[in-house]
Amino acid sequence: MSDLLRIENLTVHFDTDDGAVEAVDGASFSIRPGEIFGLVGESGSGKSVTALTILRLLRPPARIVSGRIAFEGRDLLALAAADMRHVRGARISMVFQSPRTSLNPVLPVGAQLERVIRLHAGASAREARERALAMLRECGISEVERRAAQYPHQLSGGMCQRVMIAMALATSPRLLLADEPTTGLDVSIAAQILDLLRDLGHRTGASILLITHDLGVVAGLCDRVAVMHAGQIVETADVRRLFHAPAHPYTRALLRSVPRVDREFAMEPIPGAVPSLLAPPPGCRFASRCPVVMPECRIERPAVTLLEVDHTVSCFAAVTPVRAGAPAEGGDG
Ligand code: ADP
Ligand code: MG
Repeated sequence: MSDLLRIENLTVHFDTDDGAVEAVDGASFSIRPGEIFGLVGESGSGKSVTALTILRLLRPPARIVSGRIAFEGRDLLALAAADMRHVRGARISMVFQSPRTSLNPVLPVGAQLERVIRLHAGASAREARERALAMLRECGISEVERRAAQYPHQLSGGMCQRVMIAMALATSPRLLLADEPTTGLDVSIAAQILDLLRDLGHRTGASILLITHDLGVVAGLCDRVAVMHAGQIVETADVRRLFHAPAHPYTRALLRSVPRVDREFAMEPIPGAVPSLLAPPPGCRFASRCPVVMPECRIERPAVTLLEVDHTVSCFAAVTPVRAGAPAEGGDG
């Protein structure tokens, strides 16, 4: 199947007085039509910057150093501003992590949704109103007439996120970027929002890039996953393979750091911290935290290696046979 979105070798820096913050470094991954693709990693690993780059919403001091973002056959990074506005308005939309602050505080939520529908579809006021109510209903909101008349501050966080999702889908996008869409929500509400995203994805055929630091969310929802650490994609895999045969030491560490009721031992935090992205050392950025680090890891960046269909890893240790005497790393089971 051909890809809907293909990111190749994307590098994004923030120019600061202290030098360049290398927020995204040579990231590559692709998303297929209709799939839910997870982008997972600790806070600060470059997930949001990647999403904002796709929509070209980054402003200086951010700078796209290199890379290509192919979407429906065109390079988004090379599009004229007007064409990019069309992509943003109709083909790719985004749901942010704080829905309340992304909504207009002085306009009832129904009116905001109607505005998007009218702009996009050129619908009459009455059609737009009907479609807005139908979309709110589709997004699991009850008593839609009453809700539509309310302002964002009168709605709960979960309700605001449902409205944001309705707005994002009002233009029938082919790709929805969802950046930690359940942050700050109660566990049960978060689960409902994720179910809603999955159902809407399946119903509309849109692909979803789901950004999260939570592997539990990935396990429940995603088809394929990219694992990001300190601006680098270290592994991409089908979700089953990621959990059953993780190849990168960082992925394994992430898996071990998830609390699980079915495990005898307590969760293990990932050792060390995400390294500074201000002029980071060459090589693998996980080297300083890695239990199986080798000398070459600190010198050279490991290439992306295809382990099997839908499974890539960037790690010398994962593709080099274990050397005699070196401690073998067991699987995660
Ligand atoms: P994530 O979403 O994975 O938590 P981000 O994409 O927000 O991470 O950030 C990636 C890196 O970019 C972080 O190290 C962050 O400090 C840096 N960064 C983000 N915005 C700026 C900025 N305006 N100036 C400098 N550095 C920034
Ligand atoms: Mg983020």
